[in-house]
Amino acid sequence: MPARTGEQYLQGLRDRPPEVWIGGERVKDVTTHPGFANGARSVAALYDLQNEPALRDEMTYESPTTGERVGLSFIMPQELGDLERRRRMFYHWARFHGGMMGRTPDYVNTAFVAMAAAAPYFAQDRPEFGENVRRYYELIREQDLCLTHTLVNPQRSRAPQRYLTDSLAEDVALRVVKERDDGIVVRGARVLATLGPLSDEIAVYPSRSHHTAENADQYAVSFSIPSDTPGLRYICRESFDYGRSAFDHPLGARFEEMDAVVTFDDVLVPWERVFLLGNVQRCNDMTPRTGWIIHSFHQVVTRIMVKTEFLLGVASLMVETLGSGEQPHVQERLAEMIMQLEIIKSLLRTAEVEAAPDEWGLLTPSRFPLTVAENMYARSFYPRLVEIMQLLGSSSLMALPGQADFASAIGPDLEHYLATDTASALERTRLFHLAWDISCSAFGARSLHYERFFAGDLVRNAQILTATYDRQPMIEMARQFLERE
Ligand SMILES: Cc1cc2nc3c(=O)[nH]c(=O)nc-3n(C[C@H](O)[C@H](O)[C@H](O)COP(=O)(O)OP(=O)(O)OC[C@H]3O[C@@H](n4cnc5c(N)ncnc54)[C@H](O)[C@@H]3O)c2cc1C
Repeated sequence: MPARTGEQYLQGLRDRPPEVWIGGERVKDVTTHPGFANGARSVAALYDLQNEPALRDEMTYESPTTGERVGLSFIMPQELGDLERRRRMFYHWARFHGGMMGRTPDYVNTAFVAMAAAAPYFAQDRPEFGENVRRYYELIREQDLCLTHTLVNPQRSRAPQRYLTDSLAEDVALRVVKERDDGIVVRGARVLATLGPLSDEIAVYPSRSHHTAENADQYAVSFSIPSDTPGLRYICRESFDYGRSAFDHPLGARFEEMDAVVTFDDVLVPWERVFLLGNVQRCNDMTPRTGWIIHSFHQVVTRIMVKTEFLLGVASLMVETLGSGEQPHVQERLAEMIMQLEIIKSLLRTAEVEAAPDEWGLLTPSRFPLTVAENMYARSFYPRLVEIMQLLGSSSLMALPGQADFASAIGPDLEHYLATDTASALERTRLFHLAWDISCSAFGARSLHYERFFAGDLVRNAQILTATYDRQPMIEMARQFLERE
């Protein structure tokens, strides 16, 4: 099947509805439920972009097995041009939502590109696991399926000596409870799956930062199954789509991608969907050895570059609207945004230019530029961008009558009192609703929380960076300096 259309994606969710719970209610159809429908429509719009004649070559490539046009996020990069094409595809999707949707399908697609290339890694315990992961990649590429993934077990306690062991004792963490002729049976919970309720499939694999404890063989597992598999349940937070207009909630009314706890109540995973089983070390080493995260970070860093461009554009309009652009401190804040943008762009480009084949022959972007871009964004860049939006906006972020107010008897008053030298009241309010949804609303706060945590906790990630970055040449340099006469 060639790259899907939006309608085909929505029909898939209707035909195979996952078990989704929100506010004490089981959702019958996420494509019509007010908490999810607009988010689903936005994902559908991304699939439609693949089929726009003007973008077809930038969004798709020829499937190596069928010759049909399939999504470019599935390409197995062999040369620099492949990485550049893939980045352009990421870019088009990210521009559609201003970088505000973290979990568009390209994110997990790229992970499976790397895993399929690393099929021999999975085949070490059982040859069929390598074949399973390779076939699965082909399946999602040819059917253009939308995936979520879930990596982390819930923790009863974060005290090191109690981590996992407590979850095990309490029968909480996801584990294998039975092996049968037709597959494995899994039970337990995983902490989050963003986009889960809007996904065709859920992939389960180990986290690089939350290692499975020695001897916890039952917890060492990786697989992928359809979201409507019996016993699988998505339990959602409240929706930030409050059913208001796109004028009032420009982001929440469009891009609610939803986060959900996932529970598995004796879920059967067919053997052909199992990728790893029972080998703790293999699971703990999976991320560094397959390099999936670097390929996903190629998508992430493209998205955060677009997000920064978007925020810079919105901030510039805010300054223009308020006439504050001649203030030195306002210029300094815009300059800070520009600096961030150029740093991210440079890191992205460096990662591509310094790409090299990994141990499985897949051309892989250079790891540290992408890791540093993602870490800096989570650690200080994005929180500062949000702060700058708040500082630039001040009271205008609260002077926000809704669309209905403009259409009401007080409309003329609003036009009189809220216009600025450069914008009508309606233009000003529309713009500041957007700035508010970026920096103050529940949608905006969740977006900040997402950037901080979706790729792991900052401290744990810093520990990984320190442990894996080769500092030996620098140590040698310092040593030589000390020993100089
Ligand atoms: C909006 C959002 C969306 C997400 N979407 C997904 C998703 O789709 N799929 C998915 O798999 N996950 C998702 N996550 C979860 C994400 O993977 C985790 O939040 C992240 O890995 C951190 O794990 P944790 O929340 O258990 O926190 P921890 O890693 O436990 O950190 C919590 C606190 O404890 C400290 N800490 C505790 N133990 C240690 C230790 N041993 N070493 C260092 N620090 C420690 C940390 O510094 C931190 O302050 C999402 C998270 C958010 C916020």
